[in-house]
Amino acid sequence: MSPAAPAIFPQTRSAALPKTMFAAVLHGQEDVRLEQVPTPRAKKGEVIVRVLAALTCGTDLKVYRRGYHARMIQPPALFGHELTGEVVEVGEGVAEFQLGDLVAPMNSAPCGECYFCLRDQGNLCAELLFNNGAYAEYIRIPARIVAKNTLLIPSHVSFEHAAMTEPLACALHGFEDSHARAGDTVAVIGGGPLGLMILHVAALAGCTVIAVVKHDSQVEAAKALGARHIVQTTVVEDVVQAVRELTPESIGVDIAIEAVALPETWEQAVALVRNGGTVNFFGGPEAGTEVRLDTNRLHYGDLTLKATFHHTPAICRRAFDLIASGRFEASRFITGHAPLSQLNEAFARLMDRSNHGQSIKTAILPAGAIGEALP
Ligand SMILES: [Zn+2]
Ligand SMILES: [Zn+2]
Repeated sequence: MSPAAPAIFPQTRSAALPKTMFAAVLHGQEDVRLEQVPTPRAKKGEVIVRVLAALTCGTDLKVYRRGYHARMIQPPALFGHELTGEVVEVGEGVAEFQLGDLVAPMNSAPCGECYFCLRDQGNLCAELLFNNGAYAEYIRIPARIVAKNTLLIPSHVSFEHAAMTEPLACALHGFEDSHARAGDTVAVIGGGPLGLMILHVAALAGCTVIAVVKHDSQVEAAKALGARHIVQTTVVEDVVQAVRELTPESIGVDIAIEAVALPETWEQAVALVRNGGTVNFFGGPEAGTEVRLDTNRLHYGDLTLKATFHHTPAICRRAFDLIASGRFEASRFITGHAPLSQLNEAFARLMDRSNHGQSIKTAILPAGAIGEALP
């Protein structure tokens, strides 16, 4: 027998953790229950995070309505994926994080070895690992996400704002993928959280943004986030014409980004764009959805059609830097706060159509801390 190997890697370090915790468990369609479950403990390479803020997200709302998400979550399962928190347990072998660190762990990490990863398309990784469970007092961060896609929050950045890194990474990916240049006219269709993020990013990049939105509150939000023009779908008779009239000789926009996920708006996006322009189908419709496109227009108009899904660790870092820089106005996206016990009410509010899109994101605060300062 050889003597015990010297400790090359750090051992498990732990704060005092309760045996059980409260966590939201998704059981099916519109069925999320707050349950007492065992507090997760860190295995090799993992960390346990005490959740400080978990943001509601359009994808969560879709999951809540449909009861599952083919790629991200199958019930029964812990729920929620946009979070920040404090490291309270560090598993064996983890050298990059310490107890007490404030972190923004992303909701996925690619394998780095498959066909897609080797072609720098980690967002399409065949083995993309997803993590859910942000609507809880504590969450386990799997080893791969600890190693590849967990960001340390500097003290000048609000933990609520840092929790927006994941959705902003999706928005930034969609914008970068559309290859806009400063001065381009970009139409963004949709005034949900991601539509608003995309238009804000486009405005920050020096594009002239035309926001196509439905509700009065979205008009206000779009203006505040930098849209030059607003086309409100409930006010104009012909959305395509209204947008085109905002461009020289009605030629159409350079780039149209669709962030609604309906066939009508996918078709609208194609009709808005000028010859030689680019359309990004950013919104993800349900499986089996089909659209009608004029192939003559596509060919003779020399259009580029593309779609963008999810993010990669590199894009997450750029999104995080944008939030940390203070240029991205994260506070405008958080329109409410609620304790974990009111998660169902928060979803009900987001689902309520008479709410007219006034709620953008609700910050769920399992630890009870609100605001900018450190807990
Ligand atoms: Zn999300
Ligand atoms: Zn991969």
